[in-house]
Amino acid sequence: MVPFQMGQEAMVNIPVLVLNQNYLPMNICTARRAIVLMLQGKAELVENGGGEVSSVSVSFALPSVIRLLHLIRLPRLQRKLTRFEVFNRDHFTCQYCGLETRALTLDHVVPRSRGGQHCWENLVSACIPCNHSKGEKTLAQVKMKLLRKPLIPPPFFLVPYYYLRNQPVWLKFLPF
Ligand SMILES: [Zn+2]
Repeated sequence: MVPFQMGQEAMVNIPVLVLNQNYLPMNICTARRAIVLMLQGKAELVENGGGEVSSVSVSFALPSVIRLLHLIRLPRLQRKLTRFEVFNRDHFTCQYCGLETRALTLDHVVPRSRGGQHCWENLVSACIPCNHSKGEKTLAQVKMKLLRKPLIPPPFFLVPYYYLRNQPVWLKFLPF
């Protein structure tokens, strides 16, 4: 363990995005863990968190994104279709009006009463007013548009949106 000086505890606990060797997001660790991985020669700094932490003898750039130098082979994730996963995919944003809110509903783009499926490509996050005005109608009937096409999330680590809100610099490393 790197002997960090007192008072830097908060800094070394900030979240760091860990990219696999192929630049795909893999997980999130603490800055402390990221610095240890870099000191061990297992990872490189990709994005600086805009600060420095120092141990007794050396200073380190405070990492925000690191990349592993060896490819870790991961099993493909079977992502469950849940409300939370749909909201997370949509960045907790209504896909009709763009409002970011916790008060979301799941909307079937093609209503189930019209044969719409309960699947990733037919489910979006909608705020309550948008869901209400759309009702059981089709997009054409209510003249509403989707902000983006709903897709199946990729079968690997999806950064939880509550991290992204505070780490906008991570966005450019997300393939989705
Ligand atoms: Zn809305």
